[in-house]
Amino acid sequence: MMGAPANATEDHPFSQRMKSISADPPPRHAAPAPFAAFPALERSGIRFVLTDIDDTLTTDGRLTAAAYGAIERLVAGGYRVIPVTGRPAGWCDLIARLWPVDAVVGENGALYFRYDRAARTMTRRFWLSEDQRERARRRLDRLGARILAAVPGARIAADQPYREADLAIDYREDAGPLPPDSVDRIVALMRAAGATAKISSIHVNGWFGDWDKLAMTRHLFAEIYGLDLDRERRSVVFIGDSPNDEPMFGFFPLSVAVANIRPYLPLLAAPPAYVTAGEAGAGFVEFAETLLSCQNLLTCQTLLTCQTLLT
Ligand SMILES: [Mg+2]
Repeated sequence: MMGAPANATEDHPFSQRMKSISADPPPRHAAPAPFAAFPALERSGIRFVLTDIDDTLTTDGRLTAAAYGAIERLVAGGYRVIPVTGRPAGWCDLIARLWPVDAVVGENGALYFRYDRAARTMTRRFWLSEDQRERARRRLDRLGARILAAVPGARIAADQPYREADLAIDYREDAGPLPPDSVDRIVALMRAAGATAKISSIHVNGWFGDWDKLAMTRHLFAEIYGLDLDRERRSVVFIGDSPNDEPMFGFFPLSVAVANIRPYLPLLAAPPAYVTAGEAGAGFVEFAETLLSCQNLLTCQTLLTCQTLLT
C-alpha cells in the first residue's frame, strides 16, 4: 500500500529504522536525480525493463489501465518487460500467460515462469526441486503456526495457498497494520527457525534457501537469453518502490524508483539513481513514457551516431 512502512535490513530492526525516518536527515548519497534527467544516451541502450509490482505498477492495491497500457507500449517499443515480485507462483502463472510480459520472477526469487507464445509452452523454473519444496512446505507450515501463536494480529497472507516455496505473513495488506515491534518479532521467529526473512510493504516473507530476486534474475538471463547479467547491467533498467528493492537498486546502475520511495530514502544504503515525479502506477507510466520518448528523439540518433564514431 502506498506510504506503508516497508523494510528492515539484516542489521537494523524494523522498529528502530522506522523511528530513524523522522529523526535523521537524509544522507547525501540518498538523493536520486529526477527521472527526467536520465541521459538519453543511457536510455537508448536499454533492452530490458525489470519492474516490481506492488506499489510500483499498482496503485492502492489495483493495477490501473494506464499502468497496464504503459507495459503494452513498452513491449510495442521493443523492450522486454519482466516483473520481479514477492507475489506467489499462482499469480506468476497468470501473469506469465496473460500479461504482455516476457517472463516473471516470483516469490522473491524462488522461481521464474516464462510462457513461449509461439511454442505454447510454459517454462516453470524453481530454485528448489519438487521434493525439496515439499519438505520445506512442512517446515514452513509449522513456522507459520508458531508465528500466529506468538504474534497477536498476525495472519497467514491470503495468497499463501498459491505459494510454492515461501511463507507470507500479512502485517498490513488484509491484516493490521501491525506495529513495527510485531514485525520485528515475526522476522526474529523466522530467523530463529533458520529461515531467510524479508519484509515487503505488506508481508513478511520467510523461506528455507539462499535465493533472492537478483540471484534468480541471473538464472533467467543465462538460461532464457544466454546473457551474463553482470555484463548486461547497462542494458537493463530496474524500477521499484521500497527498501526491499534495495539489492536491485544497488546492482543496476540504471535504477529508478517511483516517488513513494521518498519517505524511505534515509533508510537506503543503495538508493535508486533516479526517481519519478509521480507515485506508484502514475510514476510507472511517467517512467515508460520518458523511456519511449527517447526513441522518437532525433537527438538520440545523433548521440548514438557520435558514440559509434568515437568507439
Ligand atoms: Mg513494491
